Amino acid sequence: MKIAVFPGSFDPITVGHVDLVRRALPLFDKIIIAIGVNSQKKYLFSLEQRKNWLKDVFNDLGAVEIDVYESLTAKYCEEKNARFILRGLRNAADFDYEKTISQLNHIIGNGVETIFLNSQPQYSHISSTIVREIILGKGDASPFLPAQVKITM
Ligand code: ADP
Repeated sequence: MKIAVFPGSFDPITVGHVDLVRRALPLFDKIIIAIGVNSQKKYLFSLEQRKNWLKDVFNDLGAVEIDVYESLTAKYCEEKNARFILRGLRNAADFDYEKTISQLNHIIGNGVETIFLNSQPQYSHISSTIVREIILGKGDASPFLPAQVKITM
């Protein structure tokens, strides 16, 4: 069984994440979208809220599972018998960062392979960081969010 872990903060999930998961579906038997909890990191939305949004958005897809983890991503993949990590590349900055992490994960994760999909041009400017700034600035972030994600702040 080909299992991939798609790790991230999803603070909040955007249409860019959704596109990535949908395009990756034919490659794997199962994709576990896993929210990584990092005690050093500050989030805008609660873990519960982020998890519920993911569940709502991927409700129709049997091959997608939602989970939360606190350990190292490579360790979590081993626990889940996942030999693949899914990540998206939007630009050269993503590539530089992701390349190092994927090489480290390959070593500490017993050969876990990171599979990258380039983002589609219409999504490559979208990030959770930008979405959070729009929300905090009281702007309308809905063009970047799946319909299930309703912001009430
Ligand atoms: P992290 O906190 O680990 O960066 P994110 O939730 O921001 O987590 O992103 C998780 C993954 O989703 C990353 O691989 C990122 O490159 C990818 N991603 C985020 N936004 C997009 C997008 N617009 N198009 C394609 N991939 C994206």
